[in-house]
Amino acid sequence: MANPSAQLIARRADFQAALHGWYRTHQRQLPWRASPSLYKTVVSEFMLQQTQVATVLPYFDRWLRELPDFAALAAAPETKVMKLWEGLGYYSRARNLHKLAQAVVAMPAPPRTPAAWRELPGIGPYTSAAITSIAFGEPAACVDGNVVRILARLTGETKRFSTSVDAAKHFTPLANALIVDAPAGDHNQAMMELGATVCFRAKPLCLTCPVATFCAARRAGNADELPRFVPKQIEQRSVTRLFVVDRDRILLRRGSANAKRLAGIHELPEACDLGVKPAAATLVATKRRTITRFSITESIHAIAPTSALLKVIAKTEALEWVPLEQLDHVTLSGPHRRWVAELSKR
Ligand code: SF4
Repeated sequence: MANPSAQLIARRADFQAALHGWYRTHQRQLPWRASPSLYKTVVSEFMLQQTQVATVLPYFDRWLRELPDFAALAAAPETKVMKLWEGLGYYSRARNLHKLAQAVVAMPAPPRTPAAWRELPGIGPYTSAAITSIAFGEPAACVDGNVVRILARLTGETKRFSTSVDAAKHFTPLANALIVDAPAGDHNQAMMELGATVCFRAKPLCLTCPVATFCAARRAGNADELPRFVPKQIEQRSVTRLFVVDRDRILLRRGSANAKRLAGIHELPEACDLGVKPAAATLVATKRRTITRFSITESIHAIAPTSALLKVIAKTEALEWVPLEQLDHVTLSGPHRRWVAELSKR
């Protein structure tokens, strides 16, 4: 008896017909799909990494209005690029997209193969496959979390993966076998669409799934349990931040130009930036958030700008007073903009 992957590959033509027919009728109307271009595909793929479609939509529209092509993006100052990205998070994506546009405009023509795209900033196996399949019809399968979930369920794979990267590597040969002889861009988008709108992580819609007859997990009734991962070790972290307002200006810390995550992004300063002990300030808010494997508790303390504090601030290059009325002109990380707005109303 052939293994489930081999059985699926043997029925590839029928699988593709079911999937592509469904996609033609049920795909969502998205701005990067209307009159598609290489630039729109690249921008949307960068924005959609780790981010939901609904969150991306207003950012994508504004971006295209302000920076309509590679040349406009390449020529834009970094402050403008970061400001347009403000609130989308994972800011290295914006910096890489900016550098990528500068590299592309310096070439005689944009590259066409996944391997050549992987040489550009911010491009990994998934993004190179997405861009080249959609823009140039390259038969490279995209394997992200959605596709891993679908393939794990279609094949009933119960192996426990240690990371999402391991899982993607495991399923890449099958994904590449399933894209053979298909219109590559539509096939990849159909798989992603199925993962985003039907084969949900919890409670997949198996009754209306176009590929239900190919699915081992549906037959076994264990779709909700697949794919399996070794549980993540969540690390707890605590950060103490300061809310310092002096008349009509607020103190912020600007991420240094070579910081990995927050270069040029403003945040509320940490107590350690100013040598302040939390007990010396008043706790005004506690915020919790999760970033990758970290569960972070942020305690925000208000403190008056004493003359001793003003001296420390004046000597610390990364600290910056920003007039409250000009807050819209600096790039604040998304949660910090919400916290500042909330605390300013007190
Ligand atoms: Fe996912 Fe259910 Fe479709 Fe299988 S039948 S691919 S589990 S939605």
